[in-house]
Amino acid sequence: MENSSNSPVRIFFALWPNETERAALTAWQPPLKKLCGGRATPDDRLHNTLVFLGEVEAERLEALKLAAQEISGAAFQLEFDTAKYWGHNHILYAAPGSVPPKLALLVNALEQVLLRHHFKIDRREYKPHVTLLRHAHCRNSTLPEMPPVVWNMHDFVLVKSVSAGQGVRYEVLERFPLAE
Ligand code: ATP
Ligand code: MG
Repeated sequence: MENSSNSPVRIFFALWPNETERAALTAWQPPLKKLCGGRATPDDRLHNTLVFLGEVEAERLEALKLAAQEISGAAFQLEFDTAKYWGHNHILYAAPGSVPPKLALLVNALEQVLLRHHFKIDRREYKPHVTLLRHAHCRNSTLPEMPPVVWNMHDFVLVKSVSAGQGVRYEVLERFPLAE
């Protein structure tokens, strides 16, 4: 039975685009795929991971939601303006020109609140990216210019990652509003 009370679930916090914002980034995929090959992230999976928790006991999910509700973040805009490539994992991604201070504060607040509630997190430096292609091979490190895409973030979300056949499926479990 999926999700019986104490089976672990794979969890992360993310920024989740609306349909328009998502479509604007999926428009980057065909020209980049033509150049570098690989597999395009299906559009309903495009996201920006804020904090990755990995396996969490299902019975702790309520506590996790309550912890995230303690955060009083503020809404912000995130502008993706560059396509970039990580050679070590063959991921081609959309990157913002800069990290808005409100976003940096949000990630920091999330990490602090999760640690305070004794959740284990992966504390790598936060490098905002949206994975566009996996298994890509770009010969040239200079990728073509892309039309900038703005995400207007009024909330952040808690997402469950579920293995589905060969890949994964994401389920948004809860949304946490950011103050306007
Ligand atoms: P795949 O593993 O097939 O690439 P996925 O990465 O889309 O699938 P998950 O592995 O469940 O799905 O990861 C969910 C999100 O968390 C992705 O954005 C992924 O980049 C990020 N993530 C996964 N593992 C870590 C980690 N150890 N540290 C930080 N972020 C991670
Ligand atoms: Mg993964």
